[in-house]
Amino acid sequence: MSLRLVNDQPSVIGVLDLQGGVHEHLEHLERVGVACKRVKQAEDFEGLAGLIIPGGESSCLSRLLTIFGIKDVLLAAHCRGMKIWGTCAGAILLAQNVVGEDACLKLIDITVERNSFGSQLDSFAGEALIPDVSADPVPLTFIRAPKILAVQSDVRVLLRMDDYIAAAENDSVLVTVFHPELTGCLSLHQYFAVKCGLKNATGRARHADPDWDISSWTKYAALACRAGD
Ligand code: GLN
Repeated sequence: MSLRLVNDQPSVIGVLDLQGGVHEHLEHLERVGVACKRVKQAEDFEGLAGLIIPGGESSCLSRLLTIFGIKDVLLAAHCRGMKIWGTCAGAILLAQNVVGEDACLKLIDITVERNSFGSQLDSFAGEALIPDVSADPVPLTFIRAPKILAVQSDVRVLLRMDDYIAAAENDSVLVTVFHPELTGCLSLHQYFAVKCGLKNATGRARHADPDWDISSWTKYAALACRAGD
């Protein structure tokens, strides 16, 4: 007979591993010093303090959640206290309302519009202050991103841009329409680890690689550029 510790607290952040930017999130979590793992099937949800739903393609991710039979498992884990962070496509999956489409998980009361900046070619990078997250400007990478057009009263806005909201949260769900995992900055991963109860405090933006240029799409693009110097 195997014994189970009664006081076992969830201590791992999982990254939903169905499609999209899984590896980059895992690397950032490791740099922040948080135990992390890939999540693909029902058993993988055990012991998770948090789950990241990465960017990718929300229609594809939504179908795969059903095909892999883990949509209800994910919702049940959230009910038991698992926090969730959705980046870009992940934010779309978590939204209560998606303009012109059926919503998927409906775990945060926001309205999003997919592909709201245009096509892949209209992707862009920039930076902004997100005071709740870091005292330093945070680099932002938008890839065929959605816009958050509206939030309901139980949702806190973390970053408001011109005519849209780029980051928001409620007590259990964080959404960003940009991709912190594709920059050198660790501050949002640190922020999520605090939300999951795995770290004590956020602070100044921590950078995985100080040479990382904010105009780089991915660290791989940055490395390729340096190799070609
Ligand atoms: N355009 C994608 C969608 O609507 C999201 C893109 C991304 O995650 N970078 O699902």
